[in-house]
Amino acid sequence: MADVRYDVLVIGAGPAGIAAAISAARAGARVMLLDMQAEPGGQIWRGQWCTRSDHAAKVWMDMLEQVPVECCFGARLVAVPDPHAVLVDCADGARTLRFARAVIATGARELHLPFPGWSLPGVFGAGGLQALVKNGWPVAGKRVLVAGSGPLLLAVADSLRNAGAHVLAIAEQASHLAQARFAPALLQAPRKLGQALGYGMRLRGIPRYANAWVERADGVGRVHRVTVNIADRHRVFDVDCLAVGYGLVPNLEVAAAFGCDLRDGAVRVDARQTTSVAHVYCAGEGTGIGGVDQALAQGEIAGYAAAGHSELAGAAPARRRAAQRFGAALARTFALRPQLRTLAADDTVLCRCEDVPYGAARACATQREAKLHTRLGMGHCQGRVCGAACGFLFDWNAPASVRLPLAPIALGHLDFSTRTTDDAVLQPRPHLPTRH
Ligand SMILES: Cc1cc2nc3c(=O)[nH]c(=O)nc-3n(C[C@H](O)[C@H](O)[C@H](O)COP(=O)(O)OP(=O)(O)OC[C@H]3O[C@@H](n4cnc5c(N)ncnc54)[C@H](O)[C@@H]3O)c2cc1C
Repeated sequence: MADVRYDVLVIGAGPAGIAAAISAARAGARVMLLDMQAEPGGQIWRGQWCTRSDHAAKVWMDMLEQVPVECCFGARLVAVPDPHAVLVDCADGARTLRFARAVIATGARELHLPFPGWSLPGVFGAGGLQALVKNGWPVAGKRVLVAGSGPLLLAVADSLRNAGAHVLAIAEQASHLAQARFAPALLQAPRKLGQALGYGMRLRGIPRYANAWVERADGVGRVHRVTVNIADRHRVFDVDCLAVGYGLVPNLEVAAAFGCDLRDGAVRVDARQTTSVAHVYCAGEGTGIGGVDQALAQGEIAGYAAAGHSELAGAAPARRRAAQRFGAALARTFALRPQLRTLAADDTVLCRCEDVPYGAARACATQREAKLHTRLGMGHCQGRVCGAACGFLFDWNAPASVRLPLAPIALGHLDFSTRTTDDAVLQPRPHLPTRH
């Protein structure tokens, strides 16, 4: 087992990773698909492995079952000890995995911006609350306000409503005019248009405000009231929960650990999805936020390229171009307004792991200085939340390098002294997770 070596390692089993694994396997490569979650699906298809209630999820997951892909779920990549090996943390210890080429498909996370009261219990990231609900967290009968920016708010409101929550309103910071200008992009993407009309139908009766953003959340022990600025008027909502998110930012840690070049907060890739590291490819939200169609098209291109058969990518480049145009229109429409930079007070906590207030960070010139002087970004999440917030609030560039391990890992998991060579190498599960 010590020589286990895959032709293609795919890191992340969301839409981009699933498409990459299928393409690489179809091109004849020996493929390993890895994800820290227990099942494939990523963010958008969370829970779909068993239900397959979403048409696209069903199509891609059925295809995944039909190709010879080896898999490891519940396995988080935590370090890149050499260019052709990764260290993976599993429930029973850390293991090394060797490969010739890698496709990074590690997706995105939400952008959270601080405002007074944002750390009260009952205040959730919008996508975070949706993920909890998809995993069975009960919200039936709860009064929830959905706020922030971007089309994810509609998906979140829809999931909450489906689960029996009382969605009070959706507060979108973008203006009516900006959203109206988005219409031509929607008309050119019939599937997205259908999705938007579907949300419109299912969410009818729920008030939707434009030019609206949360100014503060108040409550004793948990959130009870949320003050929303709606076109410069203040309106207070009595709530049980607030779901708030300001769009997505790429997960860059794995790409940075491989030493890939980053540009404008995303991994720089060429037409074949190759990064600046010749044997490493990147697909999906890591290359810039573009949605599921972009992730699938890029995944296909990257999978074939990593397997040495770019010519098999067929129509995927054309689909990628269309998805990129749509992604660019999304970015223009939901660009964040400058007022959101001014919501936090000096004593509003900014780095929740290390309890660093906004005022202390504001006194620093760079993220590195803030780290050295205040410990901002040095806690459990390693700056995954506050780092992106500082990027928006202060225009700070995120550090291009990362500190290893990428996530906290039990010291015992790193103790290789008692293991045989076989033990120290990841034993892949040849099968996908069982469906119940
Ligand atoms: C919280 C959230 C909710 C969303 N909900 C919706 C929605 O309802 N509708 C919609 O249209 N879009 C939604 N999106 C956007 C959606 O994620 C994208 O449009 C698209 O699915 C991205 O696909 P992807 O494959 O690039 O990334 P993802 O689907 O994010 O998949 C990335 C995968 O990489 C894995 N991963 C990351 N780091 C590691 C590591 N170190 N080791 C091992 N595995 C790792 C993750 O576990 C994940 O499974 C959501 C995004 C977020 C962040």
